[in-house]
Amino acid sequence: MPTSFLCTACGTGYPPAETPPKTCPICRDERQYVPPSGQGWTPFEAMRDGHRALIAYDGEFLGLGMAPSFAIGERALLVRTPAGNILWDLIPLIDRAMVELIDGLGGLAAIAISHPHYYTTMAEWSEAFGGIPVLTHAADKAWIQRPGPHVALWEGERREILPGVTLIRCGGHFAGGTVLHVADAAGGKGALLSGDILQVTPGCDGFGFMRSYPHYIPLGQKAVRRIEAALDGLAFETVTGAFWGRVVPQDGRAVLKKSVERHVRWLGESADI
Ligand SMILES: [Zn+2]
Ligand SMILES: [Zn+2]
Repeated sequence: MPTSFLCTACGTGYPPAETPPKTCPICRDERQYVPPSGQGWTPFEAMRDGHRALIAYDGEFLGLGMAPSFAIGERALLVRTPAGNILWDLIPLIDRAMVELIDGLGGLAAIAISHPHYYTTMAEWSEAFGGIPVLTHAADKAWIQRPGPHVALWEGERREILPGVTLIRCGGHFAGGTVLHVADAAGGKGALLSGDILQVTPGCDGFGFMRSYPHYIPLGQKAVRRIEAALDGLAFETVTGAFWGRVVPQDGRAVLKKSVERHVRWLGESADI
């Protein structure tokens, strides 16, 4: 029986087939990596049967993760609004428990993804909620491994998907690297959901800006300034990154300014070392 094979290093799902793909372009790219043991694959069903949903609040938003951790280890976030719910970023696992929980909370209007590392099982996720659109930036179209009617490409710099819920293209880590702004969150002060585009640091008091996290390749000055400019004029108090516990609890805008300045300053100083 054809099945969707998943890359065990990045969690990307491929179109149903009898045998796994030869390689994973996402992992061969310098922003990911191929493990020393080589490219590994698992059928979707085997991954699903070997994992359970890990559901917990991470700051203000309900997080959905996997136990045990799998591939990159990110968690998705459920953004609930009076006009409908958005699932931000994806994890490879989708099971009955998660679908019933989300349906019980009002279902999903759409899924939105920050960048190709979290495309994962986008086709299965869309189908489980009646074929809802999966919003991804058109600049990263070439990285989509499982095309289909679920893919809803968007273009430009900003897109309001529900009242007060806006996609912002920052670029950087990927050309279409996107963050999500939720205006009414954080008690009306605003929240940013940042994926890997602004990488929340372990102390939850700063951001890293990298082209490649596994290979430690930082973004250059122009790219970091572009991220800062893309977020101009937006109020945000909290910033929730891609991994459990990575939540900047306050002063998000000041943390951004500090993080950009130190990154740019060091790029300049390190040129003389
Ligand atoms: Zn991969
Ligand atoms: Zn990434």
